[in-house]
Amino acid sequence: MKEYHILSLSGGKDSTALAFFMKENMPDIFEKLEFVFYDTGCDLPETYDYLNKIEVFLNKKITKVIPEKSFDHIFDTSLLIPAPHRRYCTVLLKVEPSLKYIQKKIEKEGDGFFYFYIGLRADERNRKGVTPTTLKNRNIMKGIYPFIEYSIYQNDVENILVKSGINYPDYYKWRARNGCYFCFYQKASDWINLYKYHPDLYKKAMYYEENGRKAYGEVFRWCPKGTLRELIEPENMKKYIQEKQEILKNNLYAKNLLTTFNIK
Ligand code: SF4
Repeated sequence: MKEYHILSLSGGKDSTALAFFMKENMPDIFEKLEFVFYDTGCDLPETYDYLNKIEVFLNKKITKVIPEKSFDHIFDTSLLIPAPHRRYCTVLLKVEPSLKYIQKKIEKEGDGFFYFYIGLRADERNRKGVTPTTLKNRNIMKGIYPFIEYSIYQNDVENILVKSGINYPDYYKWRARNGCYFCFYQKASDWINLYKYHPDLYKKAMYYEENGRKAYGEVFRWCPKGTLRELIEPENMKKYIQEKQEILKNNLYAKNLLTTFNIK
């Protein structure tokens, strides 16, 4: 049976480190490996830059899978704001396009067995539940976890990134999470930094927050600390950035990151 080997790159550090790790430690599979990025169209500019850098460093093209309907189209036609209790963003912008991509691949290139390489680290082995195999077509897919198999922990991932020269994605200078610029899992300080680094994207997010469909009288907030308009009031900006600095003071991982980026 034909085999497909797919590594889905998110533009984050773990999947990137996995790509470099596989080149070094699993060269036979790396040869056959296809890089795929499920492009929501809403990622940060730094993420797109990082993906370009990965292509150059590894000399391999990344297939960019685009959803049939863009986020703007979905929002404009439904006025639905994605939120933790309404994660249609993940389903429509990532999960469905990934399943359609596999389906199309089968139609074009023939039946086969799919191996998905997943950058879950050894210290995250308890999160192993969510894999493409849990979605559909269980009988033609298998999730492979090289970092768990080879006991690769968070500090090993960092070493791989630094040693390879690719380093961290640039958004790590101001935000710890990969994903859409309006992701509702961001902390207040991340939102404020989004405003500082990408004011245009912040204003777009503010537009969605204010113009999305709501229950009568409801004030919708993506961030529990306040609406996006409230968060950028000067006293709030100061407060949440100070709060973050306090947390960072005692966080060894964050300190290492700041050293890597030479941020004072
Ligand atoms: S990164 Fe956040 S907003 Fe984007 S698809 Fe994932 S959960 Fe939704």
